[in-house]
Formats: sequence, C-alpha cells, structure tokens
Amino acid sequence: MGTAAPKIVWLRHDLRLKDNPALYHAAYNKTPIIPVFIYDPQAMDRDYGAAQKWWLHHALTSLRNDLKSHEVDLIIREGDSLKILQDLIKQTGAVGITWNRLYEKWSIDRDSHIKETLKSDGIEVESYNGSLLFEPWEIKKGSGDPYRVFTPFWKECIRNIDRIESPLPVPNSLVDGDLPIGDIRDLNFLPKTRWDKSMTEHWEISENGAWDRLNHFLDNGLNHYKDGRDLPAKDWTSKLSPYLRWGMISPRSIWHEANAYSIAHNVQDKNRDNFLSEIGWREFCHGLLYYNPTMKSEPLQDKFKNFPWQPNKDFQTAWQRGLTGYPIVDAGMRQLWQTGWMHNRVRMIVGSLMVKHMLQPWQDGETWFWDTLVDACPANNTAGWQWIGGCGADAAPYFRIFNPMTQAKKFDPDGDYIRTFVPELKNLPDKYIHEPWEAPQDVLNKAGVILGKDYPRLIIDHDHGRKRALEAFESLKN
Ligand code: FAD
Repeated sequence: MGTAAPKIVWLRHDLRLKDNPALYHAAYNKTPIIPVFIYDPQAMDRDYGAAQKWWLHHALTSLRNDLKSHEVDLIIREGDSLKILQDLIKQTGAVGITWNRLYEKWSIDRDSHIKETLKSDGIEVESYNGSLLFEPWEIKKGSGDPYRVFTPFWKECIRNIDRIESPLPVPNSLVDGDLPIGDIRDLNFLPKTRWDKSMTEHWEISENGAWDRLNHFLDNGLNHYKDGRDLPAKDWTSKLSPYLRWGMISPRSIWHEANAYSIAHNVQDKNRDNFLSEIGWREFCHGLLYYNPTMKSEPLQDKFKNFPWQPNKDFQTAWQRGLTGYPIVDAGMRQLWQTGWMHNRVRMIVGSLMVKHMLQPWQDGETWFWDTLVDACPANNTAGWQWIGGCGADAAPYFRIFNPMTQAKKFDPDGDYIRTFVPELKNLPDKYIHEPWEAPQDVLNKAGVILGKDYPRLIIDHDHGRKRALEAFESLKN
C-alpha cells in the first residue's frame, strides 16, 4: 500500500480499466485504490438472470487479471453494500470512495442512502457518469419533460454532441491495498448443470474481448450496417451488447472509435449514423426506465393493463425450447439458448409471435429473456418487450402483426440462419425452409423430415393467430 490514504472504487456495471471515470479519478495523483465488486442481491429489485451471472463470473475473473497486471487486487464481497463498504473503510483507513452512477430506482435509492451515510462519517464520496453518453436528466424537451419519442430525442442528443467528452485513459499508476480478496467462485454465478458449454465458444469475456469485438465490427460490419443489420445470418452487427451491459467498454469509447474509423475509412454516413443511433436507442431506453420505474412490469400505455392475455404453459414451453413449428422463431430461440444472445430482428419476430399469435403476456417473454440473455438489461429488455407488445413509448402499433414467413423470407432469404440453428431442416430446399408444412411429401421424405416427429407442426396457425390477436386488441376499445 502506498503512503497516501487510499480510496475505494466501488465497481458495479463498469467492469473495465479504460474510460472508467470512477477508477480514473480515485487513482488520480497516485492515490492507492481499493477496487471492490459487491454482490448485493437483497438490495436489487430482481436478481441477475442465470446467463448474466455466467457472464459476470467471467467478466470479474478477467477484470481481476487485468487489475493484477497493474499489481492491484480486485476485492470481491457478497452482502449488504453499505456494511461492506464501511468495513472496508475501517480496515483500510480509506478516506474516499468513487463509483459510476446507475439509473434504476432501487439503485438510486440505495446509492443515495450510502452516499449520505458515508459523507456524514466524513468520507469523501464522488460519483460519475460512466455508462451513458448523456445522463437521463440531461436531454429534455424545451418544456422540461422527458422525451417519449425516439427521433426528437436523438436529434436533441445530436445537438448536444459536443458535450460528449473524450474517453479517459487507464490511470497510469494504480497502487494497491492489502486485504483478503475473496473468491469469485463463492458468488456461485456458474450454473450447477453445465448448460453454458456451448456459450463459451461464442464469447471472449474480457475488456480486450470487447475491443476485439469493436474492431472486428468496424472492419467488417460497419459499412454494411444500415441494410445489413437486419440479416441474422450475417455477422454485421457489433455484438457489443453484453459488453455494454457490464460496462466492459463505454459508449463514449464506441462513439469516438466509430466516428474516427468512419473518417479514416470513408464509411458511408448512413451506416455510421444508423449504428450510432442504435447506441442512441440504448440511451433512450435508459431514460424511459429512469422516468418510468414501473415499466418493468406495467405497460407504459394504461389501456394495456386490461389486455386479455391468455397465459398458456404449453405455448410458453414450446416457444422457450424453439419448438413452435415456425423455423425462424425456433432458430432464434435456439440461438438464444446456445449462445446467450439473439439477433435484434429475430428478437422482434419471436417476441411478436409470443405476444400476438400466442397471446402470452409480454412480461413472461421479458422474464425468459432476462434469464437467458447475456446482455439482459433492465432498460433495453423492458423497452424492447413493450415495443413488441405495442404498449410502450414509441412502440410498434399492436395491430401491426409480423408475418413470420414473410419476415424470414425477407431477412433470411437463403435460410442460412435457420439451417444453423434448426439443423433438422437443413436438407429442405430454400423454397420450403421457411414453411416446411407447405412441402410436398416427397420433398419432406427426401430431406429426411417427418413433421410432428423430427420437427413440430405449427403450434398456432398464422391466420388464426393474427385474427385472435386483432380481436383481443379490438376488445380494449370497448
Ligand atoms: P448493434 O446493432 O451492434 O447495436 C449496438 C448497440 O446499440 C447494442 O449493443 C445495444 O447496446 C444498442 N442497441 C441496439 N439496438 C437496440 C435497441 N433496439 N434498443 C436498445 N438498445 C439497442 N438489448 C440489450 O442490450 N439488452 C436486452 O436485454 C435487450 N432485450 C431486447 C428484447 C427485445 C424483445 C428486443 C426487440 C430488443 C432487445 N434488445 C436488448 C435490443 C437489441 O436487440 C440488442 O441491443 C441488439 O440485438 C444487440 O446486438 P448488437 O450488440 O450486435 O447490436
């Protein structure tokens, strides 16, 4: 430990060294730092899902290694955050603490209480923006109200673009404390049944992995983005969502890198702008949740509180397992299970089938995603499901019902995505890959597919499901 009094860096959703304001400012002027991650499930309004825990285990392991290479230990603790921080202060003589802000109501309530208590104990407490381009209260309408529609929101962000600061470097001198560090395995984030094996090969869960992913995307995906981001068989989106969720790269870094790359490599404006606007959607969703903390469970549009959902366990199980009989939906649900991630276009298609054709509550879909997505994010996930359900802010109108076959033919025209995740259909000709029930018997025989045995029959007919959904929606008007 250095001679100066140390500062604690309370790491939460900012598991990185680069552009980490809390870390940077704590370590300023060679102040010794004590980075700590606390798992505090009692304080949370809902525990992390299983896939998030799996990711978090590896993210913490890699952050510990990264800090170790600067000769700093990452302290891991489980329990009440305030008590743990007070104990650490006592043990180390820390005079200050820094963290990057979180924006969910439960975390704001907890953090405000911790801030007040520690300040009254004479501890210096500083918090920063480490996970958004703009904090929710920074972008508002002229009237002072928050935006509920994306386009004007994003225009206002762009007007304020100069306020996006440059990313901070890794502090060049990190000086350690000296404490029992705690074992990451004791957090029990790894699953007991090892369903994670197939996921491991898809991700490099580290800060370096995030930068590799960004650079790969800039070189290979960015210039295809506007039209290509809807094609699930292509690797043309960034796949940065789990890294952003855990703060293993900052949106500021992505913003600056994407802009710099675009200038250096003549990336078409439409591709750059479209990509950056998706980072904008993330900002928009965080703002929505900040101003509407109940939206995780309640529709933003009141009239949907009386929607006549028809919860059905069999429907939900078939959907979760990728056994609905709609190949594009089943491919998406299996991609989710195998990799912990699903392409955005397919998230919309599977979500639409669930809340519309099947009339299952969007909250149940949200819960399944919460448990299975490595990028499950309270803001983006809730907003995504409310968008699908037609009950959110700036949502797709409920009566616009995706036709899964039309969607599949448009966005997976050769069936490559389906063949990857629904291998039992791989020998069907392109003509029938999206609707195997239309294939003549001899074609099915040749492809080795017995419907109802190798691959399920449709769980619900499209026209019937569409009609039911529209009737349910009409009933809201009465
Ligand atoms: P890219 O296309 O490369 O976009 C870059 C980044 O922009 C993403 O990493 C993400 O942070 C952000 N972004 C992109 N699209 C959206 C969007 N529609 N809304 C908000 N932010 C966006 N995203 C999550 O991060 N976590 C979730 O839990 C989540 N749940 C969703 C649920 C549903 C039903 C739907 C329709 C969408 C959901 N999304 C969620 C949004 C989107 O599907 C993912 O962010 C995207 O697929 C991640 O892939 P990517 O990193 O390759 O995205």
